[in-house]
Order: sequence, then C-alpha cells, then structure tokens
Amino acid sequence: MTAVRVPGTPLIEDGRLVSTSPATGAEAGRLPVATEADVRAAVERARTAADWWAGLGFAGRRDRLLRWRGVLARRMEELADLVHTEGGKPVGDAVVEILTALEHIDWAARNARRVLGPRRVRSRLILAEFTAHLEYQPYGVVGVIGPWNYPVFTPIGSAAYALAAGNAVVFKPSEYTPAVGQWLVDRFAEVVPEQPVLQAVHGLGDVGAALCRSGVAKLAFTGSTATAKKVMAACAETLTPVLLEAGGKDAMIVDSDADLDAAAEACVWGALTNAGQTCIGIERVYAVDQVFDAFVDKVVTKAGRLTVGPDGADIGPITMPSQVDVIRRHIDDAVAAGGRPVLGGPEAVQPPYVHPTVLVDVPEDSAAVREETFGPTLTVNRVRDVDEGVERANALSYGLGGSVFGRKRAVAVARRLRSGMAAVNSTLTFAGMSTLPFGGVGDSGFGRIHGEDGLREFGRAKSITRRRARSLLPSMTFERTPADVARLVKAAKLMYGRGR
Ligand code: NDP
Repeated sequence: MTAVRVPGTPLIEDGRLVSTSPATGAEAGRLPVATEADVRAAVERARTAADWWAGLGFAGRRDRLLRWRGVLARRMEELADLVHTEGGKPVGDAVVEILTALEHIDWAARNARRVLGPRRVRSRLILAEFTAHLEYQPYGVVGVIGPWNYPVFTPIGSAAYALAAGNAVVFKPSEYTPAVGQWLVDRFAEVVPEQPVLQAVHGLGDVGAALCRSGVAKLAFTGSTATAKKVMAACAETLTPVLLEAGGKDAMIVDSDADLDAAAEACVWGALTNAGQTCIGIERVYAVDQVFDAFVDKVVTKAGRLTVGPDGADIGPITMPSQVDVIRRHIDDAVAAGGRPVLGGPEAVQPPYVHPTVLVDVPEDSAAVREETFGPTLTVNRVRDVDEGVERANALSYGLGGSVFGRKRAVAVARRLRSGMAAVNSTLTFAGMSTLPFGGVGDSGFGRIHGEDGLREFGRAKSITRRRARSLLPSMTFERTPADVARLVKAAKLMYGRGR
C-alpha cells in the first residue's frame, strides 16, 4: 500500500511499518510487520529464552540488566534524538524520559532478589511444627504492549521489572514509535546475545491483539482505556492475567496556603511537558477562591513564555495527527459552553502544533473537563475550598495520579484523591520514584508497575511449607483421634475465642 504521507501517520509499505516525524514527515523507521504466525513464533522462541534467562538466576540477570542500563545511558543522546525524530518530543523531554527509565532498570535489577527471592516467612502457633517459605517465580513469557507518548519509559516500566523477575518479554511498540522500540530491543540483544529474551513484534493494533492471544503467560498493557478493555476481553478467552495502565485526567488542587509561584511552575510543567501528551499530565486544576486569580495570572505568564516548534522549542508537535481533532473539539466545546481562554484558545490549534491553552470557568460537564485531551491545554476552575476541589477531582471515572499544592492540609488532601498516585507540592514526580508503585484505579486500570509491587506483578507467589517437628496436636490427618479433635476445639477457643 502506498498512501499520501500525513507527517507522523504510520503507514505500511511492502510489508514494512514506516514511521515518520510528525513535524517534518521525515522517515524515522521501517520495520517488518509481524503476522499472527510471526507473533506466535516469537512467543515460542521466547519460551526457550525464558527458561535460559530464569536459569541465570537473580545475580546473572542483574548483571545483564545493569549492562543494558549502561549501554542506554552511554548512548542516551542517540536515543533522545530518535525519540525526537520519531515522536516529535523535544530532546530535553526525551532526556528526562530516558533518565527515568534508566533509574527503573537500575532499581528493578538491584532489588529483584530481595523482593522476589526465596525467603522464610513466620509460622504461627497453629501449624507451628512447619516452616513457611515464599518466593515469586517468573511467569515465563510476558507480553508488553506500549503506547507512543513515552516510548522508552512506559515499556521499560513493565519490561525491566518483568525481565528482572526472570521472564522473557515479547514487546509490541506503538505503531507510531516502532523504531524506538526496536532500538531498545537491539541494545538489549547486545548484552544478552545468547537468547531472544526481549523481542519486538511490529504492526498495527491487530498485532497487539495477536499478542494477547499468542499464549503469553501474562500481558502488561499501557495505552488508552478503550483499548485496555479490548485487551482484557481478548485475554479473558484464555484466562491470561493482565496488567492495565490506561488513561487519565489528572487534577491538581491549589489550596489557600500554597506557594503560588511553585504551584504555577509545577502546573505548567505537569500540564504542558511533552505537549500535554502524558497519561499523568495535569489536565484540570481546582484552585480555591482566595488564590484563584493570582494563580491563573502566574500560570498564564509562565505558559505564555513557552516556545512551540520543531527543534529546540519547549513544545513540539502533536505526535498522533488525529489527536489534533480531539484537542480542537475540547477547546471549541469549552468555549461554546462559556469557558474563557485566558491563553491560547481555538486559534492555538495549528497542526501539527497546538500552542499552550489555558481555559477558565469551564463547565464541569464539558469534554475538556471530563475526557482525556492529551494536548497542551489546561482547565482551571475556581472552588470554594479544598473539599470542593477533592469532590470535583474525584467526580470522574479515571483515577491515575494527581497533585496538591498547599502546606497544612496537602498530604491529607492527597490521600483523599481517588487515584493510584499523588504528588504534594510537585507534579508527576511519583513516576520517577522507582521505589513507589505506579498505576491507577477505575478507568485508569489496575495492577502496578514500579517498586516492589511492580516486581511482584511479574512473579507468581509460590508458597511452600516444610515440616520441622512432629505434630503435637495432629489435625491434618486421618490418624487423629476423637481426643485430638477435642483438644483442637479447646486450643481454638483459647487462641481465637477471646474478645469480640
Ligand atoms: P492505544 O490504546 O491506542 O494503543 C496502545 C497500544 O495498544 C499500541 O501499541 C496499540 O497499537 C495497541 N493496540 C491497539 N489496538 C489493540 C488491540 N485491539 N489489542 C491489543 N493492542 C492494541 O493508546 P495510545 O498509543 O494512543 O497511547 C495513549 C494512551 O495511553 C493515553 O490514553 C494515555 O493516557 C495512555 N497511557 C497510560 C499510561 C499509564 O501508565 N497509565 C502511560 C502512558 C500512556 P497501535 O499503536 O499499532 O494501534
């Protein structure tokens, strides 16, 4: 198929997936499209690789993963340039993304044994004659499906943890960023040349669907809520467990005692970095009445200074050309419903760019407040107090991250946000904290990547009991006598019968 090239829109030519820069249309990558049979074959190869990789043990895998981290770190400028070319992301944003991914590889590699390795756990008085042992064994082959907006950070957030846990990974990058995905896989193969422990399969959504049905033992998906539902339905056919990292509509709450300069700085970054194409990006702000005007002024001043353009600008192009229509609709709807642009507005949409847009007094039922915009836009609404802010923030079915600025009540407010994560007096910072789990609630998905929970996602708990002494009070045997049973009743009443 030869098609008219819309810069940034992937196309298939002679069985190859061609990705292009959304800014210039320059070709960024050309990768073979996998058929369903290719996907199955990759998973078959991965099974053998998984056995070999698991056999390396925690120390062997740690060594290889740290070497992979080292290669990526040493070549990070090259990777940042590729991320920039293929997705349009400013190089500075790409560097921050890669740095965060490096930290996750490092932490997962160094902590897998401690979190997942075999260990004794306490026995209780009942069954005190047995010791208890726990370990987390790898699933085997894990499928990873990734989005385009953070083509390094998001797949590594799943894959590095899955690999550290002893699994092989078959990875389907987004059709918008296949070259970045393949680059990561190729660098891994340099440090693990023996077996295809990390492979990529390329193509459109049907390749992702094929991966769900390919016999992988677990599927880690990052992408939109709509696709997450399809992935879960496909995986349900074979009871394949899923981890779903889906969309968000994160809110920031600004309390009356907030440092407004810091709040505005973090808000502008959290909302507009990567042109707002961030799952945990701030898309809505609820500022309390007393500070609303001053806060909006500061946000407008800071956001108004940002540059927009192809190279060296703060804000790059919209990666997925079709998203421009969504952004335009949200801005137009908000204005038609009485929202006021205090920066940007309908004229800010100049494909493939959207200039920073700040809308105030936007009705809560408008698309700009309720749906994921994924553009450099922000709604800021006035609330009576933080309680009203929390109520509005929690009114949506999404629940990924969030942010609170303030002093006295900020942590308490952060706890009340219906979300998997929250940042107090910053935005997005939990994503880079490798010790903290990352994931959402409701329409934002379930399961966790990163941190100890992120490692455990990729291991099956294996529990073993071992006899260490004769049973004084035999219960789990037909050899027990009526007297034993009577003693068991007595013991049960003694141990559990007191109190309520
Ligand atoms: P999509 O849901 O469109 O795509 C995600 C991945 O799924 C892509 O690789 C896509 O392939 C693949 N896919 C498409 N159809 C199917 C299918 N039927 N079965 C299996 N896989 C399929 O999301 P985007 O790529 O547009 O990414 C943006 C979304 O990701 C936003 O909603 C954002 O909030 C979310 N996101 C969530 C994060 C989180 O951690 N919670 C982090 C980053 C992003 P193809 O590209 O070829 O269509």
